[in-house]
Amino acid sequence: MAEKKFDLRKLQEADVPKHYISAEEKETAKFGKLVFEFPQERNEIVAEGDPVDYIVKPQAYFRGASQIPGSEFNQSYQIFVKPFFLDRVQHRHVKDEFLVFLGASFPNVFDFDAHIELTIGKGEEAETYIITKPTIVRIPAGVYHCPLNFKEINKPVLFLATLFTPMFGGIYDMPDGTTQEMYYNGPVPCKYDANKKCDTCGKCLQESWER
Ligand SMILES: [Zn+2]
Repeated sequence: MAEKKFDLRKLQEADVPKHYISAEEKETAKFGKLVFEFPQERNEIVAEGDPVDYIVKPQAYFRGASQIPGSEFNQSYQIFVKPFFLDRVQHRHVKDEFLVFLGASFPNVFDFDAHIELTIGKGEEAETYIITKPTIVRIPAGVYHCPLNFKEINKPVLFLATLFTPMFGGIYDMPDGTTQEMYYNGPVPCKYDANKKCDTCGKCLQESWER
């Protein structure tokens, strides 16, 4: 029998330093800033009169470069349990966005029973897509999208919104005809002042993970 070039079993555990993810270790370990434990968030921003129990608490969100320096990516992980009109205002982004809809009756993500409507495009070219099965949607940079309406939720739905920018934000068409660029980083503390809520000033977006 030919001799093995290498034995995978011998490669399993290299003798390298191991780290828990304490604030101190994140500062001192070379790659510590690349590893981030999700904080528990309770995002309940709704339009006046809407129920706040449409979503499971807590939720996880990856807030991009403010949490892992240098990230050009942010993502939400929300489980919808009741109908909810999530996004009413048409908008576009400077980079691609991906919207993922999966069943949240774990462990089978294909166990899906919901009716969700998403509009892509603006004015005469607008089209509304009806989502009744596990689905991913790509919204290319600059393409208008929304409203996004979770109309019927008969089984929990896992919703991930992934945007390839360092912080969540978009360009919104306002009812008065103007457009406005808006950013939102969640109800998280400021990276430099824990007593202050993030006001999306963007200072932390300039940091690199190597420093
Ligand atoms: Zn969007």
